[in-house]
Amino acid sequence: MSSNHELVEFLRSRAWLKTLSLIKVFEKTDRAKFIPPAYAEHAYLDTPLPTLAGQTISAPSVVAVMTEALQPKAGQKILEVGSGSGYQAAVIAEAIGAKGRLYTVESVPALFDYARKKLAAYKSVEVVYGDGSLGLPEKAPFDGIIVTAGAPAVPKALFDQLKEDCRLVIPVGQRYFQDLLLVRKVDGKPVTESLLPVAFVPLVGKQGFKP
Ligand code: SAH
Repeated sequence: MSSNHELVEFLRSRAWLKTLSLIKVFEKTDRAKFIPPAYAEHAYLDTPLPTLAGQTISAPSVVAVMTEALQPKAGQKILEVGSGSGYQAAVIAEAIGAKGRLYTVESVPALFDYARKKLAAYKSVEVVYGDGSLGLPEKAPFDGIIVTAGAPAVPKALFDQLKEDCRLVIPVGQRYFQDLLLVRKVDGKPVTESLLPVAFVPLVGKQGFKP
């Protein structure tokens, strides 16, 4: 695949992407813009790629599944934990539009700087430096929360910061091997669905893994 359009057609053909509005969002968000130059030629392949400091940008199919699970809508206030390259954040920013708000938290300084530069054009996005395993209590509650690093368990802080009837998408399991979970808050309680096996870098923090 040699263009973003071809990549999106691939994601549709495999049904990783299904929702028409999200297909448009992926068309608008060029993955190549978020890839370090050394790996640019692989930008449109369905594969994870290195970013900085041993971290990764997820495979497009995983970004598609997570975005379909989150179902971000115009005007919503969303929290992302793990800004990384900024690609997943840009996808969400396109979905929530100018009236929405995305807070994306990154704990590795080099990636915080990288994501802030990549996302500077998105006025609805704020990149925050810190430990996202604790969420962002001062901006809570959220219409949706997405965690793009693997956690040992669903952090209580994140579930507490989710609005009723809203969605938390998070990989949960071992340090480098997890189940992608969709957790909905129904009558204040978690209703959990397991979506697929994934391999994310660990969520390192107070409610994540030890460094
Ligand atoms: N969403 C990113 C993928 C990020 S990879 C993208 O689209 O490219 C996971 C990121 O989570 C890494 O950048 C890592 O530094 C970050 N991370 C790990 N633990 C974290 C924590 N406790 N708080 C915030 N970010 C964290």
